[in-house]
Amino acid sequence: MRYIDQNRIKEALKEAKAAEPARIDSILKKSKSLKRLSLEETAALLVVKDKDCLAKIFSAATYVKDAIYGKRIVLFAPLYVSNVCVNTCLYCAFKGDNKLIERKVLTQEEVRQQIEWLLKRGHKRILLVAGELVPARSPINYYCETIRTIYAASTGKNKIKRVNINCAPLSVEDFRKLKESGIGTYQVFQETYHEQTYRYVHPSGPKSDPDNRLDAVDRAFTAGIDDVGLGVLYGLYDYQFETLGLLMHIEHLEEKFGVGPHTISVPRIEPAIGADFTKNIPYQLSDEDFKKVVAVLRLAVPYTGMILSTRETPQMRNELVNLGISQISAESRTAPGGYSTQDNNLGNDTQFCLSDQRSLDEVIGSLIKEELIPSFCAACYRKERTGEVFMSLAKPGAIKEKCDINALITLKEYLDDFASSDVKKSGYKLINAIKSKFSKEKQDLLNKHFTDIDKGTRDTYI
Ligand code: SAM
Ligand code: SF4
Repeated sequence: MRYIDQNRIKEALKEAKAAEPARIDSILKKSKSLKRLSLEETAALLVVKDKDCLAKIFSAATYVKDAIYGKRIVLFAPLYVSNVCVNTCLYCAFKGDNKLIERKVLTQEEVRQQIEWLLKRGHKRILLVAGELVPARSPINYYCETIRTIYAASTGKNKIKRVNINCAPLSVEDFRKLKESGIGTYQVFQETYHEQTYRYVHPSGPKSDPDNRLDAVDRAFTAGIDDVGLGVLYGLYDYQFETLGLLMHIEHLEEKFGVGPHTISVPRIEPAIGADFTKNIPYQLSDEDFKKVVAVLRLAVPYTGMILSTRETPQMRNELVNLGISQISAESRTAPGGYSTQDNNLGNDTQFCLSDQRSLDEVIGSLIKEELIPSFCAACYRKERTGEVFMSLAKPGAIKEKCDINALITLKEYLDDFASSDVKKSGYKLINAIKSKFSKEKQDLLNKHFTDIDKGTRDTYI
């Protein structure tokens, strides 16, 4: 696997296990100054087992999360547009040789209906997800048309503000077309950075070439897509090795393009219909180790957003948002067309089973209860504060001031238009409590936007 030096990872882990415990304190001190950690420093944190030491790591991660992201949590919904796939990933229900699911590629009319369903619930950010189509079906034309359909859909005052995409690697030319269609982040998970495991779990199809997948991010950057999302599918191989592989991938991107990923996703393998591999997960990541992975990543790459899906239970999600997660999905359905049914992913054409089936309103209500600020903000992307520009604002803390205001604006818009009465009540109370701690100047700016919202303006931001 190009630029993933398997031996350097093994060496770093070996040395980390032999290191003095006192080293952890100095690494955590560096983290708290919001500096990016090296591969070797990250390894030292990953091998920690001692309970007191782990508690220090968790507390440092909470500090860093709070210092950079404050209390904001960005919300989105995935839109599965196709479960047709030419690959045979052992862990996925969409694998081409699985006879147990019905195959479907949504038509543009069906996409529009799905988006209207989501808009009526208050969603504003979408992650488009698809299996890999054969080239003859022109995947890029289908994605671009679908993205245009999503942005064009509207119900009353609501429209989708940002479409991100998780799809198979494309050529530079096709990535350019994707960029022109108005895409936000391009996500592609390497799944595993352990080459032997990669080849075993991806036996056929274009995805069986690990270097083509690794290079996808380089091609996306080359095509001008500023925001890319990486990820590991935890459970395929040893979590410590995988996390360092991810770090090495980030090192490569920083060196070559001057900027790392915009987001990191941390999925754990879930049971999937027709994918027997998921009945006996080889390196099942325990809840405790999962918390450590999230906390260590937060410390290692403090400015990179971290995404958690509804694969996780509500309790786990509540814990992980405090340790480093900055974006979560809500109300997801993982079957194409899933939003028009009442069946919460229990049908037989879903990608995998979900553990959090709460509505958007319930998820928002529970975040508010934890005094977290649910946000639908997409202002940076619309004001072209992406890639390197975003990082240059984020690192000195300049972006945070804008984020607080934008998050509260989007929360008020949600509460006014979509929330249940209980969520409205607790939400307005939270807004007032947070606003009261702002400077006079910041309060005035927020009040001006709130007055506009009261008069009927929507989708306002700074
Ligand atoms: N087909 C494209 C690809 O594989 O890159 C994109 C869509 S695929 C549906 C999105 C992600 O779902 C994969 O990258 C993989 O990490 C995740 N996934 C697949 N099967 C899963 C399972 N059983 N449990 C959890 N996540 C899974
Ligand atoms: Fe296809 Fe992606 Fe599922 Fe693999 S993970 S079978 S490429 S949809």
